[in-house]
Amino acid sequence: MQQAMPLSVRLPNLIAILAIALMPQFAAAASKARFYDLRYKAQIQPQSGVIHMEMHLKGERLPSRIVLSIDPQRHRAFKSRDPLDIVGSTVSWRPQGKFARLEYDVVVNHERGRDHYDSYLTQDWAIFRGERLVPSARATAPRNLQSRATLDFVLPAGWSALTSYERTAGAPRTIDDPNRRFDRPQGWMIAGKLGTRSETIGDIHTIVASPEGESARRQDALAFLNWNLPHLAGIFRSLPPRLLIVSAGDPMWRGGLSAPGSLFVHSHLPLISENRTSTLLHELVHVAMGIHGDDRSDWIVEGFAEFYSIEVLRRSGGISKTRHDEAMQKLAAWATRAPDLFVENSSGAVTARAVMVMRSVDDEIRKVTQGKASLDDVARELAQRRGKVSLELLQSIAARIAGQHVRALEQSSLTRSAISAPPDSPAP
Ligand SMILES: [Zn+2]
Repeated sequence: MQQAMPLSVRLPNLIAILAIALMPQFAAAASKARFYDLRYKAQIQPQSGVIHMEMHLKGERLPSRIVLSIDPQRHRAFKSRDPLDIVGSTVSWRPQGKFARLEYDVVVNHERGRDHYDSYLTQDWAIFRGERLVPSARATAPRNLQSRATLDFVLPAGWSALTSYERTAGAPRTIDDPNRRFDRPQGWMIAGKLGTRSETIGDIHTIVASPEGESARRQDALAFLNWNLPHLAGIFRSLPPRLLIVSAGDPMWRGGLSAPGSLFVHSHLPLISENRTSTLLHELVHVAMGIHGDDRSDWIVEGFAEFYSIEVLRRSGGISKTRHDEAMQKLAAWATRAPDLFVENSSGAVTARAVMVMRSVDDEIRKVTQGKASLDDVARELAQRRGKVSLELLQSIAARIAGQHVRALEQSSLTRSAISAPPDSPAP
């Protein structure tokens, strides 16, 4: 139906009406979607440092070929009764008949910086990403043939597992990605002997989980979210109904990392840092917006996350206006050290400069609309679109909301070599 729509817009009215009249038929065709069962079974094996994966397909008709793009260092020992070709980082599997099974191992430990990991397995717990369990996959199948996927864990005694997927007792988790016909699990996952706290904040079921015995301050994190999450949800309206926050100490990576419906944050990071920013809120903005940049637009993604991590704290009363202004002044001074916004990975001074841009855009939109609109409207629209952002997209959304061209987003404003620093005397 989505393909029919743009065509009908360009056609004369009569034909457009005819196209609309035909829509039930399109709907009927779509409802003829055929399914096969895709069952993922993940067996966590602490002794061998791997998760043994089984991918079971069952149906009257199966995809004729599934091509996986693997990381040969992490995905190995592929096995199937059906034809299987492995060349470098490409695994090509041709399921036969009505049942097919592929098995392989996923090496869990993965370093992100020296001696620090973004995926780790011990004798007592494991933290990893769903996307690593099943490498990115392309299925060759008729257009109306779709997977109906579930994920189940086989765990050592005394362990439990948490993911961003809802689970009814005794049933496997349903993995449904409306953007894909071949569903793959996504997001942060934690398994082991766990300490968890959960609460429904607004209408978001929020779970904070960490390995048992870790000083992850789960209760503090939930209290912090009780103040702040409603403000964040008010801006974006795109937070998932279930939110999993995974936390652990060393040797996990000392930062925060977001994923669909979930995030990881190192347990030693404060909820609000000395410079009045919050890693937890920063990552939550990433979860809410679900945007990513091209190789020149990461500053947009990071600028929104950092701007709103401070802004939400101000709105919730988590920091006073004076402290907020102080934080902005420090960022403005730091921003002068970024020669260029258009880098592949925005961090430090570049992100500080990006926050200054967001603040200018917010000021400008409020001014030209007499306070009727703000950067919130831009952020909300990007969060609803999700996916890739670019400067051009940001400019066009901001211009539509402002009702005119936004000067703060002109290339000349963004490429000026130095942003003037504000007076460096901090507010009292
Ligand atoms: Zn970030």
